[in-house]
Amino acid sequence: MDLLEYQGKQLFARHGLEVSAGKAVTTVEDAVAAANEIGYPVVVKAQVLVGGRGKAGGVKLAADESEAREHAEKILGLDIKGHIVRTLWIEHASDIATEYYASVLLDRQAKQPMVMFSVEGGIEIEQVAEESPDKLVRHHVDALKGLSREEAVEIATTGGADADVIGGVADALVALYEVWLKEDATLAEINPLIVTPERQVKALDAKVSLDGNALYRHPDNQGLSDSENEDPIERRAKEQGVQYVALDGDIGILGNGAGLVMSTLDVVAQAGGEPANFLDAGGGSDAGKVKQAVELILANDKVKAVLFNIFGGITRCDEVAKGLIAAFEEIGAGGKAIPFVVRLDGTNDVQGRELLQQAQLPNVHAARTMNEAAEKVVALAAARGAGATA
Ligand code: GDP
Ligand code: MN
Repeated sequence: MDLLEYQGKQLFARHGLEVSAGKAVTTVEDAVAAANEIGYPVVVKAQVLVGGRGKAGGVKLAADESEAREHAEKILGLDIKGHIVRTLWIEHASDIATEYYASVLLDRQAKQPMVMFSVEGGIEIEQVAEESPDKLVRHHVDALKGLSREEAVEIATTGGADADVIGGVADALVALYEVWLKEDATLAEINPLIVTPERQVKALDAKVSLDGNALYRHPDNQGLSDSENEDPIERRAKEQGVQYVALDGDIGILGNGAGLVMSTLDVVAQAGGEPANFLDAGGGSDAGKVKQAVELILANDKVKAVLFNIFGGITRCDEVAKGLIAAFEEIGAGGKAIPFVVRLDGTNDVQGRELLQQAQLPNVHAARTMNEAAEKVVALAAARGAGATA
């Protein structure tokens, strides 16, 4: 879950990282009022989940009220790489002597947290890594011990921070590590981490991603999700407690069990199709649950055909079939005549397929194996695609 800059800064402040006080607003009038209250000069910053806002005209300094108004008018509604600006962050402008870079993330290959630091801040870190890799310090942290102040001093020193701010940079790194750890973040990045002419070390920007699966441990952070930019079907699924991930294709997928759903995506791709979503219906055969899942899948207009891949274990296939029949009778396949391929295998699969056949549901095709089901659904989607464009 990616946070907007100002939300990231809230978490920074919670752990003692120096940030400028400011205000998040959504209208020009509120922006001007906030700027007047904060005191000039201020910086007017677009709040979107994409980097490079400065270059795109989404970060502007204002010396007085008329400039604040002018910038707020220009930046609100601005399209930055496909993200429309709906929120502005107004903060008191900082004087900058130097721009550094700092981040903490999980190095999956090394299976360890990693702190990165560079004196080449304010530019994209990928560029630094490519053009002057010697200017980027990568330091692995013992997850059980955490980042000590001594280690942080060493990182700042190795990285070439100015001698008089080594202590300040080390404090910032320790605090950033604490943000990453205590907030269950997957990434905590400051670019730029600035040194002011008064030699104060401060986070001028914040890029924080939180682990959505750990969110239940952080009631304070639950309101932070940027629902504006979230896929609306994913949001609905989350509210319903359903595991749904939107994908780019046109074949709706439902299975019971995350592993089975993932292999279903693979088999459909192998058969030449493109999955439209991941949806794990979990255990159980409840008609209400099936109906909810079908509605989620069909809420995506791109879906041309749907594959249900059910493996009966403890949940018996005949029970699942009854759930499907009840659900389909209620929905009528969404009234869109979208074809469904249902693969039932496992406990009582013969009875399950018999029940489906007897029900004579229009647009529902039974299959026994995964490959057979995948080929069928890909062919049905292709046929509909051709029909739609003809
Ligand atoms: P990004 O472009 O999306 O990474 O947005 P940043 O928040 O990093 O801002 C981009 C650049 O604007 C920074 O690297 C700074 O050079 C500049 N900037 C941002 N805030 C201030 C400020 O308070 N004072 C000054 N002088 N420059 C700022
Ligand atoms: Mn930045």
